[in-house]
This record gives sequence, structure tokens and C-alpha cells, in this order.
Amino acid sequence: MFDVLPFLGTLAALSLLFYRPIGWLEIGLFFGMWLLTGLGLTVGYHRLFTHRAFATSTPMSCLLIVMGSMAGRGPMLSWVAMHRRHHELADHEGDLHSPNLHGDTMLGRLRGFLHAHLTWMIEHDYPNVAHYVPDLLTERTLVAVNRYYYAWVLLGLLIPAAIGGLVTASLWGAIAGFLWGGAVRMFVVEQSMSAINSLMHIFGARPYRTRDDNSRNLGVMAWLAWGEGWHNNHHAFPYSAAFGLRWFEFDPGYLFIRLLAALGLAWNVKVPSPEKIALRRMNGPALAAADPRG
Ligand SMILES: [Zn+2]
Ligand SMILES: [Zn+2]
Repeated sequence: MFDVLPFLGTLAALSLLFYRPIGWLEIGLFFGMWLLTGLGLTVGYHRLFTHRAFATSTPMSCLLIVMGSMAGRGPMLSWVAMHRRHHELADHEGDLHSPNLHGDTMLGRLRGFLHAHLTWMIEHDYPNVAHYVPDLLTERTLVAVNRYYYAWVLLGLLIPAAIGGLVTASLWGAIAGFLWGGAVRMFVVEQSMSAINSLMHIFGARPYRTRDDNSRNLGVMAWLAWGEGWHNNHHAFPYSAAFGLRWFEFDPGYLFIRLLAALGLAWNVKVPSPEKIALRRMNGPALAAADPRG
């Protein structure tokens, strides 16, 4: 439902451009909701709940669940279970969205890409939540907020519609807000998140040694997906709150965590030491020591 409907909504929004062009309001609502829900996913769902890369208060955790839920990528608990399974079995049988399990032929690679990007969502396993997320199941407030997933998705559509309607005092403004801050934004966020599963296990650099997986860095996707583009870094250091490990690796998700920390809203922010980072590099000292050719 949340994969197909946003696509149809995007087609409707684009068709309406011929009838009525968009302005700063639509662009602002799109970008604002894109940032809000994207940070909910990368900072909340991914770095906080899946990997425990930092700690925060219960109210802040609840807010991050709401922000992430509004993206329409599934309830937090099942997302976390699936993503922990991804790290456990990345690019092996049981990884729900690996692009690398359909053979080495051209057709196999294409099928793998389509599977990882889109079709895996049609029918897939639901990893046992009791097995994968026992730590979160004990937090009753978070479980309760997670239960209202569909309400949060609806809220994510109503907020831009309400702002669009109120600012322009028109029904057209509400429709435009709903389409650009709701449907189009959901479609774009979905494509960005799916690209992490598909593109970033196929294309890009592998500066760090990881467990037996094919995770890669795609710098451009760091800009389009809130820092998630440093996916090889992330598989090398899953516990790290920072996905960008060098100063030039732009990571909006980590900037947001640092902002929260500066405001006293996040603490125990984990990042690997420079020594650990150096040891993990493909041509790092550990490998050089093991390899007499250097
Ligand atoms: Zn991955
Ligand atoms: Zn992860």
C-alpha cells in the first residue's frame, strides 16, 4: 500500500504541474517532510533502535519513532528486526534484500537489483521480533507508540496538507501540500532507502574490510539519503553513530545526533577510534602485517 500509492500520488502531482505549477510552499513542504522522516529513519530506526549507537530519553525515542513511522517504511520493531537480520546474514541466504543472490549472469544481476530495490517487499519473511529485538520489547512506552504506526503514517500526510491549506487558505493548497509533502515525499524517501539495499551492495568503493558482504560507499547517496550512503563504513562499524568517518564524508544523520548531544538530548554517542578505523582499512596495517608483500 505504501509502496504503490505514493507512486500513483507522484504521477498525479506531476500531471497537475501542467495545470498549476508549484511554488516555494510545495518545495518547502516536500523538503521539510523529507528531512523530518528521513532523520526519523536514519537516526531513529537505524542508528538508535537497530544499532544502539547512542542513548536518549524516552520522549525523544518516541518522537523518533513517530518521525520514522511517517516515512511509511513499516513499523519500527519489524524494521529493526529485518535490519538486524540484514547485518547478521548480509549477502547470504536469509538476508531479505540482497542483490547478490541471483547468480552472476547479466540477467541474474538485474533480477538481484530488482529484488533488492523493490520486489522483495511483495512477500517476505518477518524475522521473529522476540528473537531479534528483545531489548526493545521490554520498553513498554516504545512498544505502545510503535503500535500506532498507521496513525503516524496518516499524520505524516495530514501535517503537510494542513499547513498547505492554512497558509494558502484554500483547498488547492491542502491538496498540493498532501501531494508534495505527503505522496511525492514518501515516494522519494522510499527510493532513497531502497537504493541503500540495492545500489550500495553492488556499486561503489569498499575502503573497509567487513564481514563477508558486498557493502559499498556511494558518496552521492550520502546527500540523497541523510548520510546512509557510507554503507561500507556502516557495515565495518555498525555500532558507530557516525556513518561518515572522514571529515569530507557528509553525514546529516550524524550532524543531527551531534546537535541532539549539544542540546543534552543524546549521550553515549559511539564512534570508533582512529586506531580501529585504521585497522579496518582494506590496505591498513593489520592486513599489511599479515601480508609480507605489504
Ligand atoms: Zn547493508
Ligand atoms: Zn545497519
